[in-house]
Parts: sequence; structure tokens; C-alpha cells
Amino acid sequence: MPEESALSSSGSPGATSPVADPGALVVGADGSLTGATGSYTKQLGDMAGVYRDADAYQALLAERGADALVYTVQEHRNLSSEGAIIIGTSTLLPGRVGAEFAMTRGHLHARADRAELYHCLSGQGVMLLETVDGRSEALPLTPGQAVHVPGHWVHRSVNTGDEPFVTLFCYPADAGQDYALIEQAGGMASLVVTDGTGGWTTRPNPDHTGYRRT
Ligand code: ZN
Repeated sequence: MPEESALSSSGSPGATSPVADPGALVVGADGSLTGATGSYTKQLGDMAGVYRDADAYQALLAERGADALVYTVQEHRNLSSEGAIIIGTSTLLPGRVGAEFAMTRGHLHARADRAELYHCLSGQGVMLLETVDGRSEALPLTPGQAVHVPGHWVHRSVNTGDEPFVTLFCYPADAGQDYALIEQAGGMASLVVTDGTGGWTTRPNPDHTGYRRT
């Protein structure tokens, strides 16, 4: 077997890199992901400090309980190495906390230059995007619309409708999530709130103290 020994010690990427199995997935407009390798949920009790109106949050907590579902993520992942991707669905239930709409915690990727795709499958919502140096965008998402989130943008999904807001996402497996950045800044700079006529608008978050630079 001298030839094989010589091959394996040569450092050939083809001989040493792990090769994952292909993932055959069925993506439902309801967020179901047949073929997923994992899932997680966030409950109301996990959302302490996320909404600005603490009294409204406490009232909702008392009414619905800490176990009330806020959002579900199903995903397919295999390798965690550079170049690998994670594909999944996010299902964010409708709701309001004070003037704010139901939303995800939001994050900047721990590897901040990593980008992400969000493609709306059902419902209606907004992708709230901010940079650490003060740029802000709120992009609406309805079925068929997608947002390409570049690296270096803090991002959060917001459900501005009355139905579950479902998105298909895809991002690099080595991106990671930095949730503390938003907490330490007193929340994101913009709030997505009701406009008083059944729609949504954004307004500045007076508690926002600025993002620490990464
Ligand atoms: Zn992300």
C-alpha cells in the first residue's frame, strides 16, 4: 500500500476534506422543513428586555405565560467549516407588545462580514437592518420578496401582519450570532411600530445608546 500512504500524506484536499451528504429538503409555506437536522423555539419568557415597553411585555407575560411561542426555527446544517451553509425556515407568530410588533431578538453575525439571504414564504413582515455606524433600513417582505443582508448589518425580522411571517434563510455556517451587541446598545436604533392606521412605521428608539464598534 505504499501508493496510498504517499497520497494521504500529500495533503491533497480531495483526500482529507470531509464531504457531507446532500440535503433533500421540502420547504413549506408554513415553515415546515422536511429533511431538517435541527430546530429550536423562542418563547415569550426568552424575550425579556427585547421590547422597549417593559410594562406591556410584563402584562403579556402574565396573560400568556413564559412558554407562549414567539418563533420557531427549523434548519438543515451539516459541516461547520468555512464555505458550508445553513439553510432553514423561521416562523414568527403575529403579535404586538405595546406599539411594537412581534420580532426576533436580532443579531450581528459573530463573523461580521458574513452575509445572509431571507426569502419570504408567507405572511408579511419587515427586515430591520442597521450598521454599527448609524445606517438603518426597514425593508418590507411579502411572499416572493427577498432581502440580501450584507455582512456588517445587524438584522432582525419583524411580523407586521396578522398571520405567521415565514422566511427561508441561508447563511454561512461559520457566521455565528452576536446577540449581546443589541442588548448592550439598549436595543436597535429603530423601532418598528404601528402607524395608527393598521400599518407599520419606524421611529427612533430613545433608549438606544449606540453600538460598540467591532
Ligand atoms: Zn443572521
